[in-house]
Parts: sequence; structure tokens; C-alpha cells
Amino acid sequence: MNKTILVLGAGTGGIITAKKLSKEIGRNTKILLFEKEEKNVFAPSLLWLMIGKRKPRQVYRNTRKIEGAGIEIVIGEIEHVNPENISVTINGKEYNGDYMVVSLGIEQVLEHNLDSYGYNFYTLDGAIKFNEKLNNFKEGKIAILIPSLPFKCPAAPYEAAMLVANSIDEKRLSDVTEISLYSPEPGPMGVAGKELSDSVRQLIEMKGITYYPEHQLVSATEKTLTFSNGRTSEFDLLAFTPKHQCPSVVGKTNLIGKSGWIEVDRNTMETQFQNVYAIGDITSIPLEMGKPLPKAGVFAHSQAETVAHNIIQKIAGKIPDMAFSGNGQCFLELGGGKAGFAGGNFYNSPLPDVKMKKPGFIWHWAKVWFEKYWFFKNF
Ligand SMILES: Cc1cc2nc3c(=O)[nH]c(=O)nc-3n(C[C@H](O)[C@H](O)[C@H](O)COP(=O)(O)OP(=O)(O)OC[C@H]3O[C@@H](n4cnc5c(N)ncnc54)[C@H](O)[C@@H]3O)c2cc1C
Repeated sequence: MNKTILVLGAGTGGIITAKKLSKEIGRNTKILLFEKEEKNVFAPSLLWLMIGKRKPRQVYRNTRKIEGAGIEIVIGEIEHVNPENISVTINGKEYNGDYMVVSLGIEQVLEHNLDSYGYNFYTLDGAIKFNEKLNNFKEGKIAILIPSLPFKCPAAPYEAAMLVANSIDEKRLSDVTEISLYSPEPGPMGVAGKELSDSVRQLIEMKGITYYPEHQLVSATEKTLTFSNGRTSEFDLLAFTPKHQCPSVVGKTNLIGKSGWIEVDRNTMETQFQNVYAIGDITSIPLEMGKPLPKAGVFAHSQAETVAHNIIQKIAGKIPDMAFSGNGQCFLELGGGKAGFAGGNFYNSPLPDVKMKKPGFIWHWAKVWFEKYWFFKNF
């Protein structure tokens, strides 16, 4: 009997899920992929966009191009999710399925009026506008701000600061520019361990960036940021990450756990509802060390492969035999054509076992290659 699989969200997790299902059982299955955005942005490229190393048109593709054997794209805002009977409502129409994969990522919330004073570089528009301002920047203070936790891609704001520093250096403005990075975290990428965190901090400081950890924003004005420790800092140009929350359409369902995100079986990604899975940024997976698994595309990607495989097994009447391993890697752009590379196992007990390789040109080119591969393979 033909089955219907509902895939909610055509971001990293949703695309990989739908593509794998399409490749392996597409002819005998209906895969409905629901997505609100026509422009499908490859988020890692936003960092290059904000310093002018990419044109806007190079960082996205049309969502409809994901279509393939068995995949039907439905564009619109999901209005209702019902995990109890495996259905979603979009554009006023209800769709029912046999399996559901929720990969709706995070919802961005703007606090403290930050969008009036600076640029949210976690969006296409914000990265474009920041770049326009950077092009006209002559001297002064640039702030990169993480106003709240958690935020996706633990490396991204640190990469942004280093890429901006490099861009300022290329314009020969380093002597008249101060770059600062403010975060509520005690250190960069802390979940990966103290050694790695210290190495990243060293890389940032070597670029001349002043790092302010444990700085929790409490308010902002056109030119100033005020933190909970009483410190006030001035800026002329501001790039910030948005506050992240679980998408409200899911927040209204019984899928949400105490964490405020979807809690899943950490091996199968199945929720408390049979045949309903959640993957990627919308989930919260506690690690033994006390922090949750970071929100990153690399995890959404391999969780999607696990879930798609297990759904295929179930449909074939076989045992769903794949488990998400907790392995993950990321590139750390340093600017000047160089990057670092960190990777390991985040499920390792009692602490994640994550190491960083020596930064070099090769990791930057590997990241560029992955960007090209992503677009070529999926669109
Ligand atoms: C600047 C930046 C750089 C990054 N760099 C890296 C990196 O180098 N490596 C890495 O591993 N990760 C990186 N990430 C993180 C990575 O992009 C995310 O972790 C990843 O995309 C999560 O995948 P996901 O499927 O969970 O969510 P997403 O990819 O965010 O997809 C969710 C989708 O759901 C859609 N959606 C949401 N609500 C609705 C609704 N109500 N109706 C219809 N559609 C809806 C959204 O439009 C979106 O397309 C970066 C992120 C940013 C912002």
C-alpha cells in the first residue's frame, strides 16, 4: 500500500529527509514537503554574503526546485500541526499522513529593538544590509552581538567577527576600527570542551577582536548596548543574532517538552507519538555534560538520514535499524581564505570528544566545495 510522509520544513533536515525518501522509495510513496519560503537560503553562505564574498543571488535557490520523484512541495505557512492523528493544515487545507517528520528549525524573535539599530545577519536581508554598511564604513566601532542563548551554529558569530576583521584589514582600516564580540556564554563553543573553546578564543583575539564573554544584553539604543553586569558599550555598526524560540505553530502542540523544544529519543529521533519524528534545530537533546546538543546543520543532516532510513525500513516491514550517532563536524572560517575544522562525537561519555584540526586553506576550500555540492545535489 502506498504511504504518505509529511515533511514539515524544507531546510537542511527537511531537504535531506525528502531527498533520501525520494531516491529510495519515491515511486511508491507520496512525500509532501511543506515550506513557507520560496527562497531557500544556504545559511553558512550568509557569513560570506555579509562581507561581500557572495552576491545575494548566489546564496539561495527556489524551493520548488527540490521537487523530485514522489516529492510534492506545498508552499505556505503551516497553520496547525496535529501529531496525534499525523496531519498538518496549510493554506486552510488539512493533509494527513502515515509518518511525519518535523524539521521546522527555530523561530527568530527580535528583542530590545535591535533591528532598528543593527543587522540580523541570520537572515538574507540582514546580511545584505550589513554588507552595504560595511562597504561604506570608514572608521569606528563594530560590534558583533549574541543577545541570547541558545543560537544555531555555535561557531557562526565567531566566524562572522573574524571575517569582518579580515575585511576591515583588507580595506586597511584596522588602525581606525575596534571590533568587539559580546556573548552571554562563558567562552566560545563551550559544549566542545575547554581546550577547543580556548583555541577559538585565541584565534579571535589574534585577529584583534576584543571578546566579552558573560555579557548578557539587557537593553540597547541607537549607539549603545547595556549588559546585566552594568557595562555599557558603544558601537557604530552592529551585527547581531536573533533570539531563538520553538516555532509557535509547534509550541501549541503536545510535542513540546519542558525544554520548550521538541524532546525525542536521541537515537531514533522519534517523538512520544509513534511514527512522528523531529529533527534538527527544533529538538533539544540533553547531553551528559549538562548542555544540549548544539543546533547545527550537520546534526540536522545526519538525523534526517537516520529518520528517512528508518521510515523506509518500517514501510518495507523491516526493523528500523539506524541510530543517530551524535557525530558532527564544523568549519570555522577565519578570513584570508583560511578555516579551522572541528569534529567528533557529542554523545561521548562523560564529555563530548571533539578536536580541532590545525587551521589552513584546505578547510576553507572544503567549506566552499560543500556549498557548491549542496546546491548541485539538492536543486
Ligand atoms: C549564519 C549561519 C551559518 C551557519 N553555518 C553552519 C555551518 O557552517 N555548519 C552547520 O552545521 N550549521 C550551520 N548553521 C546552522 C544551520 O543552518 C541550521 O542548524 C540548520 O539549517 C538546521 O536545520 P533544520 O532543518 O533544523 O532547520 P532549518 O534549516 O532552519 O529549516 C526549517 C525550515 O522550516 C521552515 N518553516 C518554519 N516554520 C514554518 C511554518 N510555520 N510553515 C512552513 N515552513 C516553516 C523555514 O522556513 C525553514 O526553511 C548556520 C546557521 C546560520 C544562521
